[in-house]
Amino acid sequence: MYIQDQLREIRAAIAAAEARAGRAAGSVSLLAVSKTFPAEDVQQAYDDGQRLFGENRLQEAMEKMPALPPDCRWHLIGPLQRNKVRKALEQGLELIEAVDSLRLAETISRIAGELGCTARILLEVNIDAEPTKHGFRPEELEEIWPQLTALPSLEIRGLMCIPAPAPTPEGSRPAFRALRLLAEQLRARGPLPLPELSMGMSHDFPIAVEEGATIVRVGSAIFGKRSYPAPPPSA
Ligand SMILES: *Cc1c(COP(=O)(O)O)cnc(C)c1O
Repeated sequence: MYIQDQLREIRAAIAAAEARAGRAAGSVSLLAVSKTFPAEDVQQAYDDGQRLFGENRLQEAMEKMPALPPDCRWHLIGPLQRNKVRKALEQGLELIEAVDSLRLAETISRIAGELGCTARILLEVNIDAEPTKHGFRPEELEEIWPQLTALPSLEIRGLMCIPAPAPTPEGSRPAFRALRLLAEQLRARGPLPLPELSMGMSHDFPIAVEEGATIVRVGSAIFGKRSYPAPPPSA
């Protein structure tokens, strides 16, 4: 019952944050991050009504997806190598969240074209400009925006970020706000509506909701402490 209790608490916390921020109930999707947890745990969440799941490694996603009911929807939230793009697109993922370079975006666009589909992606932004981290720097994104938005077979749905670790949840707020403002600027330039902002994890998702997240990615607060090491989110 642990997972179902946790899920209910998190849904309530999301609803409370939506209300505090004056946002419509249900405007935020809860992505249950199931990386490192077995399919049985995912099934427990499913049985409590959860349908949206996130994995950060393609291989692990491919092993888990067939073990779960077909109405589960899956996001890839970790880095994707260009030589795995075809495989990723063949899995029927709903969203590839961590596209972090123009080259990767170009590859996804080209292969989606070959497969006759449109790939839905988010662009990962290195919002704190950490030197070692994945993601577009904000000014880089502004610079290559015309090239990115011209790519065919690609639907850029919005932005995602993994802020630098902060000692308190409140410490993530400036990064979340910066991501929202960046999305607003890019929206104003056109031509994309950019409806999604994926930000907030177990320790800071209520703050992310207050700052405009439409997807929060919550793992350990639902499934418990990860018992074997996963690559860090930015690896
Ligand atoms: C693992 C992971 C999460 C979830 O982290 P928790 O702290 O367990 O909620 C969110 N986003 C990404 C990209 C991750 O890799």
